[in-house]
Amino acid sequence: MITNKTLKLSLKSLHDFAKKRLPDQELIDLDERDECPIEVVKYMCSPDKLGIQLLFVPEEYGGMGGSTFDVYRICEEMARIDLGVGTSLFATFLGSDPITVGATPEQKKKWLSRIAEDGALFAYGATEPEAGSDLGSLKTTADRVMQDGKVVGYKINGSKQWISNGGIADLYTVLANTPSGPSWFVVEKGVPGFTHDKPENKHGIRLSNTAALAFNNVYVDADRLIGGVEGQGLLQAQAVFGYTRLMVAAFGLGAGWSALDRAIPYSTKRIQAGSPLSEKQGYTHKLMVPHITHLEAGRAFIEETAERIDAGEGSLNTEGAIAKYMSTEAGNAAAEASIQALGGYGYTHEYMVEKISRDVRITTIYEGTSEIMEMTISRDRWQLHLKTRGQHYHEQARLMEALHAQHKDVGADMAALAMHALAEVMEKARVAHLTRFQHILLRLGELIAYAESAGCLARRAARSAENRLNEKAHMRFDAPALAALARIFGREASLKVAEEGLRWVTGAGGVSDSEMAAFETGLGLPAVHRAQAGLISDMDYVADVLFARTAKETAKEVVLSA
Ligand SMILES: Cc1cc2nc3c(=O)[nH]c(=O)nc-3n(C[C@H](O)[C@H](O)[C@H](O)COP(=O)(O)OP(=O)(O)OC[C@H]3O[C@@H](n4cnc5c(N)ncnc54)[C@H](O)[C@@H]3O)c2cc1C
Repeated sequence: MITNKTLKLSLKSLHDFAKKRLPDQELIDLDERDECPIEVVKYMCSPDKLGIQLLFVPEEYGGMGGSTFDVYRICEEMARIDLGVGTSLFATFLGSDPITVGATPEQKKKWLSRIAEDGALFAYGATEPEAGSDLGSLKTTADRVMQDGKVVGYKINGSKQWISNGGIADLYTVLANTPSGPSWFVVEKGVPGFTHDKPENKHGIRLSNTAALAFNNVYVDADRLIGGVEGQGLLQAQAVFGYTRLMVAAFGLGAGWSALDRAIPYSTKRIQAGSPLSEKQGYTHKLMVPHITHLEAGRAFIEETAERIDAGEGSLNTEGAIAKYMSTEAGNAAAEASIQALGGYGYTHEYMVEKISRDVRITTIYEGTSEIMEMTISRDRWQLHLKTRGQHYHEQARLMEALHAQHKDVGADMAALAMHALAEVMEKARVAHLTRFQHILLRLGELIAYAESAGCLARRAARSAENRLNEKAHMRFDAPALAALARIFGREASLKVAEEGLRWVTGAGGVSDSEMAAFETGLGLPAVHRAQAGLISDMDYVADVLFARTAKETAKEVVLSA
């Protein structure tokens, strides 16, 4: 187990190391040359150097046994440094996952110790040219090699695409079809018949190595079949989705914040029309405050889900999907807004935000695209809606109302409005059989993610007010700032769920003219509209916190610029 002190030390070592070895100019040059800094990655993974990988490996195999929460904090910091290098480290973690989850004790000892003792790099080989989001359609095969009626090994044939660390890993976990179904194998680099292509020329994360793999009659001994039983591959992959998606969520969060943290100081120095940009409400309230709000909603979901996974609540795949969806979409929007915030400078390489924007783009694609996240979220919560006869989100809303009774200022009342509206939208969709439209199913996924995130951020703000946040939690914002962020997000979520829910359900023919008035009432539209009051002053407050100025100064600026 890692103590808070050790975690802080690890975060600091990572930060100090990056400042020394990966300063901005070095990152810009490597990005320009499209080069993965292999020595830096190896140094970071070496047990006698930085040893970041030790955090991911269980203690019994020589690692530090970091919790999900620890790994989230490290992944966020890695993304703040460079998402390409972060991806390289993440690939080892992801590549060793099928082993951590499904291997026999002997296999775990053998392969996980290689990470802990030798700093071995892994790659995770699942995707194929024709099997991306739909992994079940993979074509790579692993045929049994028999001797005296016993399976002694397998011959692997096929190819893999877009594999991180594909050209630099020491060990590969490869998903292939055995006669009993998809299964994971460990393949060592350099074995006969196993080759990799040249690195892909990518839009972003150009400091990571991504390559296609080819398997031409590659022989592996039977003990390379992870878990020793064929056909467990997809189950083993799914068993860690909640966890691995949280890591990519943390990447979106770290990259989004790293872009904003360049835009924020820039805006205090850039004078236009006689005053710094940071004092212009039309600038901060469009390019900064909404993005900070979304990122912190994503963080709330990541932290709560990490705590629940660490408490043994299972793999929480849907919660991992919500965290990934919200944080990576927020990270992309924040990086894009940061380019705008820097104007022409933002559009050049030198100021880094355009690189961050290209880098963070991958987070809504790998480990499950945003559309697959929407589908995952929607399908799971649809079942809850049916099982509870439409009451699930009404019940969640009542929990929010109870929280509001204790903490009037954390936006729980607004989250409750979003959840009641969501229950109504889902019920209308059920009655009119609207999930036969895939677009409606996926849009419901988005609305669910917003409503649940509003609840989560309200809970986080309340815990902060009670001084009960996890001691390892990110503490950038204090309780009043978190409450303001939760109110801003709660208002947005309630309006989005009610109005977009109405739009989609009506658009799909689910509401007749005669039903419309009752539906609008059910959605609570008047209350949702009234809840928007106070939005601008909350945004002012968040901007004040961001620029460490008093509310009075902002008020003066608003009056002057009006
Ligand atoms: C830089 C990089 C690194 C990567 N690293 C790895 C790695 O280390 N290991 C690994 O195994 N893979 C890796 N991947 C692969 C990545 O996980 C896949 O690219 C991703 O899962 C999407 O698959 P695809 O590219 O085949 O797109 P597709 O699945 O073809 O999707 C294309 C588009 O269609 C949408 N779509 C797909 N299915 C549906 C549907 N049923 N309904 C509606 N819309 C749908 C998607 O959301 C997407 O917008 C990496 C990819 C990249 C680019």
